[in-house]
Amino acid sequence: MQRVILPGGTIGVLGSGQLGRMFAIKARRMGYRVHTYSPDTDTPTGQIADREWIGDYDDLAKVRAFASKVDVITFEFENVPSATTDAAAECAPVRPHGSVLHVTQNRLREKRFLEQHGFPLPDFRPIHQHADLLRGVTELGFPCVLKTAGWGYDGKGQSRINTPDDVEDAWIALDGAEGVLEAFVDFAHEASVVAARGVDGSFAHFGLFENNHQNHILDLTLDPGSFDVALQAEAVEIARGILETLDVVGVLCVEFFITRDGKLLVNELAPRVHNSGHVTFDNCITSQFEQQLRAVCGLPLGATDRLRPGVMANLLGDLWAEGEPNWAAACAVPNVKLHLYGKMEARPGRKMGHLTALADTIDEARTAALAARNALTTR
Ligand code: AMP
Repeated sequence: MQRVILPGGTIGVLGSGQLGRMFAIKARRMGYRVHTYSPDTDTPTGQIADREWIGDYDDLAKVRAFASKVDVITFEFENVPSATTDAAAECAPVRPHGSVLHVTQNRLREKRFLEQHGFPLPDFRPIHQHADLLRGVTELGFPCVLKTAGWGYDGKGQSRINTPDDVEDAWIALDGAEGVLEAFVDFAHEASVVAARGVDGSFAHFGLFENNHQNHILDLTLDPGSFDVALQAEAVEIARGILETLDVVGVLCVEFFITRDGKLLVNELAPRVHNSGHVTFDNCITSQFEQQLRAVCGLPLGATDRLRPGVMANLLGDLWAEGEPNWAAACAVPNVKLHLYGKMEARPGRKMGHLTALADTIDEARTAALAARNALTTR
């Protein structure tokens, strides 16, 4: 029998960014205590948590000290080394378990896992040597995308190869790292399923979100997306299969490309709450953050019903280019919620916050979200 961690218990979060912050807000609302662990101080999660532990992920003695003070450990940042989750697991359950992180923190391992279990994904080739890249581009054709296998997110560590002339630059940019060459997908849409699995194997999901990216970074999420019922059901079944095969306890996001002929291809897995699920903080009975909490504590998963159509618009550091954004103007747009992550320094491309707009229709919600975001740069 697994022990249920009830309100009053303490959750340890590895990582200290905005995902942990929103998790901590929901956890504290339900009467839990939260400790966060990362190398940084005055962090988005630490500002909300009961206790902010500051330590390197490879300081295993400190990781064990942190883990011994909490009832369960989860994470909001997937590039935590396996040695860290192994050390933490000596003191408290780690959910999802470290092997889920291990598979998903390396694109090559993730793609091999997906391929081995028959989940649909773009054609890819592992790249270790220059000759692999030359062979890969011949086999996959142009355009294709070279990505680092580890440490990549939001388009970092990616080079698009459009013509033979781009191959050498892409190889130089890889800088000796392990790589993955992917066929370029001329997608019609990007989409994601955020799903959760409980300790008892129960499963819940929020349907298929529609995602728009700008410069490889998520810009807007629409819930509901514009997809037909059969495609949504297919995406959810793929997500269910992935969570079951990985034996996930917690939330995992499956990012998809939808091709022009309506096929689903898995782009990436994120074994945690996800930027595309932020809309659920405001528009669903149970948000992705509360669902993560319920899952890792061994509580029943919550109802995921959508209360209203919602659109999430990210706020990147670029909005600060001309000074502090005009918060009052954005707040004047009806049915818009402002989320800021407490980050001190606004850099271009850095996720500083987001807006959620709720409305009777998704088009109205999108209009309101964009109006509020545009208002931020009015003087
Ligand atoms: P990733 O970090 O792999 O999720 O990539 C970030 C974004 O780059 C994706 O959301 C897509 O917009 C774009 N992208 C990545 N890989 C591909 C691909 N193979 N084909 C087309 N677009 C891609």
